[in-house]
Amino acid sequence: MKGEMETMEDVVIVGAGIAGLATAVALKRVGVRALVLERSQRIRATGAALTLFPNAWLALDALGVSHKLTRSYDPLLKGSVTNINTGDVQQVLFPEQGTRTVHRKALLEALAEELPSDSIRFSSKLAAIESQEQGGGASIAVVHLEDGTTIKSKVLIGCDGVHSVVARWLGLAKPIHSGRSAVRSLAFFPQGHRFKQEVQQFVDQDKRAAFVPLNDREFFWFLACKGENMTGEPEQIQREVLEKYADNFPSIYLDVVRHTDLSTITWAPLMFRHPWRIIFGNLNKGNITVAGDAMHPMTPDLGQGGGSSLEDAVVLGRHIGNSVIKNGGLFVQGDMAKAIDDYVKERRWRGASLVTGSYLSGWIQQGGAKWWVRFLRDRLFYKYIFGFLAGLSQYNCGNLPAVSSGKED
Ligand SMILES: Cc1cc2nc3c(=O)[nH]c(=O)nc-3n(C[C@H](O)[C@H](O)[C@H](O)COP(=O)(O)OP(=O)(O)OC[C@H]3O[C@@H](n4cnc5c(N)ncnc54)[C@H](O)[C@@H]3O)c2cc1C
Repeated sequence: MKGEMETMEDVVIVGAGIAGLATAVALKRVGVRALVLERSQRIRATGAALTLFPNAWLALDALGVSHKLTRSYDPLLKGSVTNINTGDVQQVLFPEQGTRTVHRKALLEALAEELPSDSIRFSSKLAAIESQEQGGGASIAVVHLEDGTTIKSKVLIGCDGVHSVVARWLGLAKPIHSGRSAVRSLAFFPQGHRFKQEVQQFVDQDKRAAFVPLNDREFFWFLACKGENMTGEPEQIQREVLEKYADNFPSIYLDVVRHTDLSTITWAPLMFRHPWRIIFGNLNKGNITVAGDAMHPMTPDLGQGGGSSLEDAVVLGRHIGNSVIKNGGLFVQGDMAKAIDDYVKERRWRGASLVTGSYLSGWIQQGGAKWWVRFLRDRLFYKYIFGFLAGLSQYNCGNLPAVSSGKED
C-alpha cells in the first residue's frame, strides 16, 4: 500500500527488531492489534546471535515463545576468561536459571510467527511524525513514511533502534559513541567441533573477544576493541581481526574466526545514551513512546540490550492490557497516555541502570593502559564485581494480564 492513502490504526510500532516484534506479540496477547512498520525488505538478523540471560527468558515465557528456543539451544553454565598478556585463566559461572546464546534470526522468527502475516509491513521507512490534538487531551500520531504513505494511529511506539526517529521527535539526546566498536559473526565447522558448551573469553589491553558454541557445528564469535568503525568487505574484516586485532590471541580463537561464515560478519560502533538522559529525558509524550535501543541504547558488555527490549515489551503490554481490562475489553484511546506513562515510570530506572552497568562492565573488562584498571579487572572484577553486575539479569519483568477479546471503541 503506497502513495497518499491514509489509514487509522490502534497501535503502530516502528521497527521489526527484537523490541518491535516482542511488543507486537505482547499486545496481541492482550487482544490489541498492532501494525509493525519495518524499513527493510525482510526481517534483519544483523549481529548473527545474542546471549539471553534469565531476565530475557522470563520475558519470553510471558510472551509465550521461550519453549520454541529452549528446545534448540543448550544452557550455558560456565565460561572462562583468559588474560592474553599474563596467560591467567579465570572461571565465570552463569546464573543457573538459564543463559543461552541463540541465533538472532531464530529469536526474531519465533516472535514474528506469533503475529498475523499482514501485521508486519516491510519496505516501510518512517520519515517523520506529527501529533494531532483531538480535544479533551487526546491526540493522534500521524506517521509519514518515506514512500509518501501516511498512517494515523492512536498509539505510536518507536522500536526503531539506536538512531530512532521517534526518540529524536521526543527530544531525547542523541546516543553517543563509546569509543569502542565490535565485530560479530557466526563460524561454521562442517565436520562438527569438539568444544564444550562454554563461553571462552579473551581479554587484552583495549580488547575483549569471545566465542560460544550455538550447536554441534556453529559458533558465535565477537571482538570488541577501542577505535572507530572498520569498513570494507567481509573478507577484509575477517583478515583485519586475524592479522591486526587478534594476532596475539590463542590459536583456538583464531581457528574459530578462520571458520567465519562471511555472510554473517558485521562491524558496528558501540553506542549508548547517557543514563541521566534516560532518567530526566522525555521517554513519552501523550500516546507516543519508545522501547528497546530507541529508549536505552547500551554497550553490549552485560548482554542486556536484547533482554531489556523483551522486558519493555512485556511491561508495555501489561499496562495497555490492564487499561483494556479496566474498560471491559475495549481499547479506549483516552486512557492510552496514562498506560504509556505507567510503562515509562516502570522502565526509566531499569533502563538507566542497565546502561550504567554495561558501561562499567565494558570499561573494566577492556582494561586500558592504566595499571589500576587492569588490577581491577584481573584481581577483582570476575571474582566480585561481575556477580553483582550479572545480578541485573536476575530480574523478573512480570506477566501479561489475561484479557478476554474485546472490540474497538
Ligand atoms: C556487539 C553487540 C553485541 C550484543 N550482544 C547482545 C547480547 O548478547 N544480548 C543481548 O540481549 N543484547 C545484545 N546486544 C544488544 C542488542 O543487539 C540490541 O539491544 C537489540 O537488538 C535492540 O533491539 P531493538 O529492536 O530495540 O533495535 P534493533 O535491533 O536495532 O531493531 C530496530 C529495527 O527498526 C528498524 N528501523 C530503524 N529505523 C527505522 C525507520 N525509520 N523506519 C522503519 N524501520 C526502522 C530497523 O531496520 C530494525 O529492524 C548486542 C549489541 C551489539 C552492538
